[in-house]
Amino acid sequence: MASRVRTFQTDPADRRTKTVSRLSPADLFDAYRRLNTPVWVYDTDRCRIAFANEAACRLWDAETEGKLRKRDLGKDMSNTVRERLQQYQASFVAHDSRFSEFWTLFPKGKPVHLEAVYSGFVLDGDRMGMLVEALSADQDEVPDTIRSAEALLHTDVMITLFGADGAVLYGNPSSGRTMLVDAKNALQTRLGSTDVYEELVGELAHARECARVLEVNTKQGKRWHNLSIKSCLDAVTGNDAYLVTEIDVGEMKAAQDRASYLAHHDPLTGLYNRSFVQNYIENPTIFQRDQADLTAIFYLDIDRFKTINDRQGHEFGDTVLMTVADRIRDSVKASDAVSRLGGDEFVVLINGAGGNLDKIANRIRKNVSEPIECGDTTFSVSCSIGIARYPEDGDRFDTLMHNADLALYAAKNAGREAHCHFSASMQEEVQKRLQLEQDLVRALASDQFVLHYQPRVEVATNRIVGAEALVRWQHPDRGLVPPGEFIPVCEETGLIEELGELVLTLAARQQAAWAKRGHRIRVSANLSPRQFQSARLMPLMQDITRYPGLDPSLLEFEITESMLMGDNEQILATLKGIRQLGFCVALDDFGTGYSNLAYIPRYPIGCIKIDKSFVDQLPHSSPVIGLILSLGRQVGAKVVAEGVETDPQLQQLRVWGCDEFQGYLFQRPQPVDIITDMLDRQPADIRASAEDILPIAADPVRSSAKA
Ligand code: C2E
Ligand code: MG
Ligand code: MG
Repeated sequence: MASRVRTFQTDPADRRTKTVSRLSPADLFDAYRRLNTPVWVYDTDRCRIAFANEAACRLWDAETEGKLRKRDLGKDMSNTVRERLQQYQASFVAHDSRFSEFWTLFPKGKPVHLEAVYSGFVLDGDRMGMLVEALSADQDEVPDTIRSAEALLHTDVMITLFGADGAVLYGNPSSGRTMLVDAKNALQTRLGSTDVYEELVGELAHARECARVLEVNTKQGKRWHNLSIKSCLDAVTGNDAYLVTEIDVGEMKAAQDRASYLAHHDPLTGLYNRSFVQNYIENPTIFQRDQADLTAIFYLDIDRFKTINDRQGHEFGDTVLMTVADRIRDSVKASDAVSRLGGDEFVVLINGAGGNLDKIANRIRKNVSEPIECGDTTFSVSCSIGIARYPEDGDRFDTLMHNADLALYAAKNAGREAHCHFSASMQEEVQKRLQLEQDLVRALASDQFVLHYQPRVEVATNRIVGAEALVRWQHPDRGLVPPGEFIPVCEETGLIEELGELVLTLAARQQAAWAKRGHRIRVSANLSPRQFQSARLMPLMQDITRYPGLDPSLLEFEITESMLMGDNEQILATLKGIRQLGFCVALDDFGTGYSNLAYIPRYPIGCIKIDKSFVDQLPHSSPVIGLILSLGRQVGAKVVAEGVETDPQLQQLRVWGCDEFQGYLFQRPQPVDIITDMLDRQPADIRASAEDILPIAADPVRSSAKA
C-alpha cells in the first residue's frame, strides 16, 4: 500500500520544538493505544509501520496491528514520496522538526484524506523513525483542491510567496529544495544583488508584474532561472506580498550560450568566424562599437597552405592554423577582433589604428613567420595580407571583403610574403579577368582554339620522331594568343576540362592522320593538374582508344612533377590506367618541382623532359642534366631536352647521349600543315644531317663532371 503526501505546510522555525521522545517505546506505545485519534510509527528505513493504535488500524483498513505491520509500504511508493520521507528523517535528526501536512493515504488502494502531524521517533537500534498523528480526515474535500495540492507538490516549477520584506511565507516543495531561507530577506538573497532587487521592486510598484532570466542563488549554487514575479496580497494576513514562479533554465541557457558561441566562433582556433565579422561591420550597435572605431580589415592567407596540408597531413595543418591564429591574436590589440573564415583565411578587424596599418601588417607577418615547433620538426610559414580601409574602401561587409580579397590577390601576385592596400585599379584588373573568362567560354563554343605542333627530334639522327601539341587561341582581334595567357584562367575556372578534352581529341586524330600518311611519329599532349584529377579523364581516354587508325603507343601525355604529390595510391592508379590503355606518360619541365627522386621508379613513366632552365646553362657544366640522363637510363625512360636554342647546346646533349630534343633551334611550334610538310620531306633531311652526328659518351654523369 502506498501513502502519498498531499499538501505541504511550511515548517516555520518557531514551530520547531524538542519533540523526539526519549521515553521507552513500550511506555509510549501503551499511552498511544489509549488514544482515539489514529497514531502510528513509521520505520522510514524499512518502509513498514512499526506501531499502530486501533484507530490507526481502522484508518489503514487493517484487521489487526500485526497484519498492518506486515504491509510493505515501499512497494508502490513514488520516488518523490520516498525522497521526501528521507528528507524528513534527516530533518528530525538534525533539527528535531515537527511538521503538519495534508496527506492522502491509499489503504488497500482507496484514497483517505487526512491532516497529519508528524515528528521524529527513535526506534530500536537508535534509528530515526516517524511518529504520525492523524488530526482530521475530511473525506469530502473538494477534488480540485486535492488535485491542485498534488500538482503543487509534484511540479518542478518553484512557487514561492515572499512577504514585502523578502521573507518566505510559503514555498512548494520544489521551491523548498532550492531556496536559501536562512536569511530574513530571502528574496534579496535569491536575487543575489540589492541592485537587482530594488530594480524589480521598483518595476513591480507600477507594473504589478515582471519577468527576468537571472542567475540566482540556490542551495545548489548559482543557477539560471526564468522568474515571473507578481505583486499580490498574502491571503492569510492581507499584507503586501510577491508571488514568484521560477523555472530552472540552466541547461537551456548553457545550450543557448554554446549555440551563440558556435554561431560566432571558429571551433578549431577559438577565433571569431565569418558571421561575427559580418555582424561587426554591419551592426555596430550590437557590439556597442562607435562607427568611427573600425579603421580597416586585414584579409590574411597562409602562403602555400594547401601544399603543407597535402604533404604533412591534416593534423599538422591544424597545428599550423592554431599557431598562426595565436600569433595573429598576439600581434594586435585586444580590441582588434581576429577571426578565421575557414581554411587558411583569417580576417582581422583593426580598430582605431590611424596611419599604423603598415606597421601592424609587418608585425603580423613577422610573428607568423617565426619557426613553428611540431613534434621533432621545426617549420616556417609565411602569409600575405590584403588591406581594405573602412569606410573609404567600402562600408558594407561584402564590399570590404571583396576589396580586401583583391588586395590579397595582388599581394600573392607580388610574390607572396607581402601585404597590399586595395586600390581602384585592382577592380579594373578583375573586370579584365571577368571579361577574359567570358571570352574564353565564347572561344570554346566557336572553335577558336587550334593546335600547333613542335617537333621532337632524335638527337643522334636529327630526325623528327615526335611532336608536342601546344594549344593556341586564334583570337578574332588579338590574333594568336599563347597558352600562358589563358591556361591558368581555364585551370582556375574549370574550363580546362572542356579545353583539355578538345586538345586530346585533336592530338589523337592528328596521330592517326600522320600515321595514315606514313609518319609513325609520337604525338604528345599536355595534361593540366585539374584534368589529371578529373573523373572524366579515364572515360575520355577510353573513347580516344576507339579512334580509327589511332596507335595508343604513339600518343603520350605530359604531366608535371607537382602532379605526383599528394595521394600516392590515387596517382598510381591513374597512371597505371593510362598505361593499361596503351598510352605513354612523360614528366614535363623535370627538375623544377620538389623532386623526390625515390618516387620516379614507382610510376610507369616512359619519358622525362628536362626543363629549359637547365638546357639554358649548356654548353657549360650542368650536373642536373647529367643526373636526369642517368635517372632516365636507370628507370628505362627516354630523356628529352626542352628549349634547345643553340647549336653548342645540342652538341653537348649529343656528347652526353640525350635521346631527343625540342627547341627553336630546330623549329618553333607550327601549324599542322607545316609539320606535315616537314615530315613529308624528312628522308632527304636525315641523309643531310647524319654526317653531323657526334660520338655518344658512355657515362653522362662523368661527362657532365668533366665538362
Ligand atoms: P610546355 O609543355 O613545357 O611546352 C613547351 C613550351 O616551351 C612551349 O611554349 C614552347 O613554345 C616553348 N618552347 C619550345 N622550345 C623553345 C625554345 O627553344 N625557346 C623558348 N624560349 N621556348 C621554347 P608554349 O606553347 O607557350 O606553351 C607554354 C606552356 O603552356 C606549355 O609548356 C604547357 O605547360 C602549357 N600548354 C600548352 N598547350 C597546352 C595544352 O594543350 N594543355 C595544357 N594543359 N597546357 C598546355
Ligand atoms: Mg609540355
Ligand atoms: Mg615543358
